[in-house]
Amino acid sequence: MSYDYDKIEVPEGGEKITKDGDGLDVPEEPIIPIIHGDGIGKDVGPAAQKVLETAAEATGRNVHWMRVYAGETAREKYDENLPDETVEAIREHRVAIKGPLTTPVGAGFRSLNVALRQTLDLYANVRPTYYLDGVPSPMKAPEEMDMVTFRENTEDVYAGIEWEAGTEEAEKVREFVEDDMDFDGVMHEGDIGLGLKPISEKGSKRLVREAIDYAIENDRDKVTLVHKGNIMKFTEGQFGEWGMEVADEEYPDDEVFAAPDSLWEEQDEVDIPEDAVMVEERLADAMLQWMQLRTDEFDVLAMPNLNGDYLSDAAGAQIGGLGIAPGANFGDARCLAEPVHGSAPKRAGQDMANPTALILSGRLMFEYLGWDDTGELIRDAVEETISSGKVTYDLERQIEGGEKLGTTEYAEAICENIEKLS
Ligand code: NAP
Repeated sequence: MSYDYDKIEVPEGGEKITKDGDGLDVPEEPIIPIIHGDGIGKDVGPAAQKVLETAAEATGRNVHWMRVYAGETAREKYDENLPDETVEAIREHRVAIKGPLTTPVGAGFRSLNVALRQTLDLYANVRPTYYLDGVPSPMKAPEEMDMVTFRENTEDVYAGIEWEAGTEEAEKVREFVEDDMDFDGVMHEGDIGLGLKPISEKGSKRLVREAIDYAIENDRDKVTLVHKGNIMKFTEGQFGEWGMEVADEEYPDDEVFAAPDSLWEEQDEVDIPEDAVMVEERLADAMLQWMQLRTDEFDVLAMPNLNGDYLSDAAGAQIGGLGIAPGANFGDARCLAEPVHGSAPKRAGQDMANPTALILSGRLMFEYLGWDDTGELIRDAVEETISSGKVTYDLERQIEGGEKLGTTEYAEAICENIEKLS
């Protein structure tokens, strides 16, 4: 093994996870890079790491963590936000986990999260949203939520192709659009900020394929493509068309059924082959209300980047908020697990934030390694802890008689339950 890192300390034991065909070859004791993250990442990062290694050990496994740096810790160590060796370490080890990284609003600072997803071509951001017993929720029947969102991760307005108002570049693009492209809509006089929204056939189809494959493998009934194709016809609308093409052309009808005209017609009367996964389209604005009013009708959702950002946060709220909501980014034989939430600066450094979302993101990562029993144990131990009323501030303020614990104490309570349940 020839590592040549400057500031990253390679653990003494453990081996690299490697690619094996389309899947992974996972050694008994893998090395897993970890970024604790900015803001509350400094609280939830170490707490989640402890819970994950306790669960791994309780199921006869051993993780060798390798700390890698991005955001604030990278600025301290390297004087840059995202050092090359961080990206290389994650690329080389294939499976990693990260806490949140801060992206200040405004010019001059590109999102490190987006940069990591794009550089490593982690094209599918997967966010399972399921209810844990005992978690307070504003919904009457939160247990109806059992949905997995697949959010395209590399394009859309997140691609970062934009020009600042008042710059020569923005004016050039305006001229090109108005003069060369014969644009006859409205672009107001004066300074204007402009951006591009690329949505490609390749990006759309591989994402929808992932969602459909997931639905087939996990006995899900339906995949819903969520877009705003009625307004943004050649980007969002095209995403829907390409997605339906995948469903229609790449799978046999008795396995995957592409519902005709689902945007405008109810599908109750449609004759769907028994056991087939139905693929339908829905408009994103309407979807946000259906998700609350008809929660149990939805199963797997696939959508472009921005819709996925909004919808998965809203779905997270239904099952207890961002402190609970896990996620992971997947590419070809690659995984970077990360929670849905950000660095919540106003809660940072106070040992109060909820580490559950990062812990459950670790569960997703372990399941990707084939460690399903470790994943189940984590889920059960988290549920047991919350059901017994031991919770962090975000859940405690929503329930009566709960016991408010700090991040570290709460993680310790989960570790005790791991020992008890294993
Ligand atoms: P946020 O960090 O997700 O936090 C918003 C609010 O959600 C918090 O103030 C808190 O609510 C609640 N919350 C989030 N995580 C929680 C946790 N673990 N435990 C308890 N409560 C939690 O969103 P933001 O304030 O909009 O974004 C802050 C920064 O994070 C920005 O720089 C943003 O770009 C970045 N961000 C990073 C990622 C990522 O790394 N993947 C994702 C999203 C945002 P209360 O105040 O009500 O307690």
